[in-house]
Amino acid sequence: MVKEAQQQEPDPGTGPDGRLFVPTTVRGKVIHWAHTAKFYCHPGKNRTVSFLRRLFWWPSLLRDVRDYVAACPTCARNKTPSAPQAGLLHPLPVPKRPWTHVALDFVTGLPSSSGNTTILTVVDRFSKAAHFVALPKLPTALETARLLTEHVFRLHGIPQDIVSDRGPQFTSRVWRAFCSGLGARVSLSSGFHPQTNGQAERANQELETMLRCVVSSNQSTWSDQLAWIEYSHNSSTSAATGVSPFEVSLGYQPPLLAITEGELAVPSVQHHMRRLPGPRRPLGLLPALLLMPSRGLWLPGVAVGASSFWWIGRGMVRKSVLGCDSG
Ligand SMILES: [Zn+2]
Repeated sequence: MVKEAQQQEPDPGTGPDGRLFVPTTVRGKVIHWAHTAKFYCHPGKNRTVSFLRRLFWWPSLLRDVRDYVAACPTCARNKTPSAPQAGLLHPLPVPKRPWTHVALDFVTGLPSSSGNTTILTVVDRFSKAAHFVALPKLPTALETARLLTEHVFRLHGIPQDIVSDRGPQFTSRVWRAFCSGLGARVSLSSGFHPQTNGQAERANQELETMLRCVVSSNQSTWSDQLAWIEYSHNSSTSAATGVSPFEVSLGYQPPLLAITEGELAVPSVQHHMRRLPGPRRPLGLLPALLLMPSRGLWLPGVAVGASSFWWIGRGMVRKSVLGCDSG
């Protein structure tokens, strides 16, 4: 569609590398697609812009998206301004890497889809990555511990801290059930945190809003689409980190669409690699790595192309320098 429209209004060639110019006649359609695709389900203005900017550009993109989202009736129906958060007695510990600190919550009272009416949401407080699990009803603490093992800990390791706005008793029972399942004696005081956290709650409110929005437009099929909704969430730029949860936790951005990797991402990577001098290529990545803001022991860096990020521990950066010098 975009390529066809370019025959009438060709790319002026003043845009960034690796992004497709969208002619005036199809801009509305492109915004509509990005904002309402079933697995993108009405993200806010900023997320819609970030998503579009991964693939496309045109001069008035920001303004056009702002106008579109402001006028979107579905957004107006489903989104309510979030109330200010209550103050905290003690702030939560700050995670230093992905999946050490998780927030779990439930979205309940949904229309039945394949017998499911509830979603368990598990959010990594560091990367904001989330997993969603469809459930027939609210699980007990023991069932929640099993679900966490099956859907989260198996993939990401055992966390140090779990919070939930269902209350400290619930979290502590989940943690105890999990530890007894492991046959481990773990200090409960370091294993869960009794205070809930404004940031985690706000993230959960946003998630809940998004999930309710998808569910309301797919009343009987939402549980089949939950994996796509999760993929969409983890691909979208997070306001808290400025990159997507995938980029933070995996170190790269998986393709948003099957075509984009072949058509856009790879040529830009190749273009970038060609510009780097031969034998010292890996060193060419380092300035970008070191320029990026560091957080704790991890350094995010633009490795290759605008859409790829690498998380590299300090030890590994060092190793990569040495490997390059000797090679
Ligand atoms: Zn909308």
